[in-house]
Order: sequence, then C-alpha cells, then structure tokens
Amino acid sequence: MILYDKTALLDFPRFGIQIPALDSRKTRTMEALHSHPELSGREPEWLIDGFDDTTTLDDLLRVNSFDYAQGFFDKRAQERFKTAFELVNPDGSFNRWNPDEAQSPLGEMTPLLMKMMAGTRKAGEIALERGFCHYMGGGTHHGHKDFGHGFCPLNDAALAIRRLQFDGALNKVWIIDMDAHKGDGTAALFSGDNSVKTLSIHMARGWPLDGSLPPSHPSWTPSDIDIPIDSGEEHQYLERLNSGMNDLKENSTADLAIVLAGADPWEHDALPSTSLLMLTLEQIRERDRMTYLFLEEAGLPSLWLTAGGYGENSWKIHTEFLSWVLPRRLG
Ligand SMILES: [Zn+2]
Repeated sequence: MILYDKTALLDFPRFGIQIPALDSRKTRTMEALHSHPELSGREPEWLIDGFDDTTTLDDLLRVNSFDYAQGFFDKRAQERFKTAFELVNPDGSFNRWNPDEAQSPLGEMTPLLMKMMAGTRKAGEIALERGFCHYMGGGTHHGHKDFGHGFCPLNDAALAIRRLQFDGALNKVWIIDMDAHKGDGTAALFSGDNSVKTLSIHMARGWPLDGSLPPSHPSWTPSDIDIPIDSGEEHQYLERLNSGMNDLKENSTADLAIVLAGADPWEHDALPSTSLLMLTLEQIRERDRMTYLFLEEAGLPSLWLTAGGYGENSWKIHTEFLSWVLPRRLG
C-alpha cells in the first residue's frame, strides 16, 4: 500500500523557504503510478488517499525533552524551525529563506509538521496489518531529543516506534537508513536500546555539515551498524549494504523494518551536500529491490519512507521502485 495525503506536506514556499525539497517528488510519483498500466483503475488495492491523524505533545514526550517538545506549541516554534531548517547563517544573514515572500509566519508550520509526523505512525500500522506500506513523506532522521538540524525538526520514525510500542502494536524494530546522510538523530535516540536496531549506509564524510562539532556531540553517536561509503567506493555499495543487512538478521529479530529509501544518494541529486555519494539510477533501483526482497524473504512487514531527495527529478527514484513493487504485490 501507499499512504499519501497531499496536505501532509511542509509547504516550504508558503513560508518563504527555498530548500529544494519539492512537492513534485510526491505529486509526480503519484501521477506516474495512477497512469501505470497495471495500477491504473486499481487504486483501492494499492492506495490509501488521505488520513486525519496528528501528533500530540504526549507523543513527542516519548522521544523529546519537555522543553524542546513544548516549544513547537508556543511562541518558540519559529526558533525551532529556523534552527532545524538552517535558515539563519552565523552572521545573521538568511540561508535559503526569504521571509518577504512568505504568505505565513514560520510558527504556523507546526500543524503541518505534526500531521506529516503522524503519517509515519499511520503507515506503520498499515504495514503491520498488510505487510508493506510506503508513506509519501517522513524519514526525518536528523531529529534529536532536544534539537533538530539537517531539515529535521523532529524524528518521525522514532515518534512512530515509541507510539506503536506504547500501543502494544510492536516490540522490536529494524531501521535500515539508505539516505545519503547519516541518520545521526536516529542513532542517538536509540543508542543502547535493544528493541531498536539501527543500520545506516551513508556518505563517509560531509555529515554533520559542521566539521567542528566536538566528539561528544550526539551527532557522532554510532548506529548499531554504520556503513560509511567514501567517494569512489560506490561500486561496493550494494555488497556492503547486503552484508550489513545479513549482520542485522544474524544478530537480532524484529516485528517491523523501517526503510529510509532516500533519493539523495543519486548522482543527479540537486543538493550540493549530497555530492560525496553518487549512485546511478541502476544502483539505486538494485538497492531498493534488494532491500525489499531481503525483508520479504525474512518474512518482515516493512514501512518505507521517502527521506531525502532534492531537485526536479528525484520523483523518478521513488517511481522506479514503486512501479516495480506495487504490481508485484498485487499479483
Ligand atoms: Zn539526506
């Protein structure tokens, strides 16, 4: 199944934000699927179109500190977003942000964010029930307990896991993070927690962006399995990912796998900070199919998230995977 809600978007242009995470990733992917010969006309079998869920302060408190969580619901919301989306440079100038072009103040993004975060939990419930769900959203893996950065105010996978564990819907989870950037928030949030095993395959350098972070900073927390890929090592990517997933399987069990199927390791991704990892379209296609088949063989339900992807063509990456997996599941 796909879970898609066109209102569960952060709508950057409305807030004057110029980060090249475009709605077209989702809208163009959906258009392509609706016109796919094996999917067209069968939407009720593969699409859940819209949801009403949101995320409450109580949900946040299972993951975040009280002070950080409460700030999204009061006057500090603007500051939360400025920091997480990296909108202000150290010298006070604006970065990818033009408030003069905004139709709404930044603080009004909170309800959109809470809805988008809730979609991940909703998609987790669908995955547990039906075996597979791809949410058109989520993957905000740089969200930490008491701060956000890297365009991630909160960590949707962590919020979903803690809520589903609280509801008794699951116990153990694997997170397989294939975004170009390391899932630093996820690693820190689940460090030392045996119920959640984290695997991150990512650029060996280039994240965190600020190389001056002290070694004690939570962004340097290791995942259970880290697979750093250096520039020029792209040919080893699939083999090393496969070996990492086998390590997961040999050393732990899970009720659900959450996959961050980031489009940003693609060689044509538009965000400059992803240029240290350049997979071809064929390599990403193989990455996604291999991961899907691995989880299918392991008999695990899987929840897939879009995670990072920048520029006008990143919809092609999601379309490539979904137009393969959905007909396969429909049979
Ligand atoms: Zn990324």
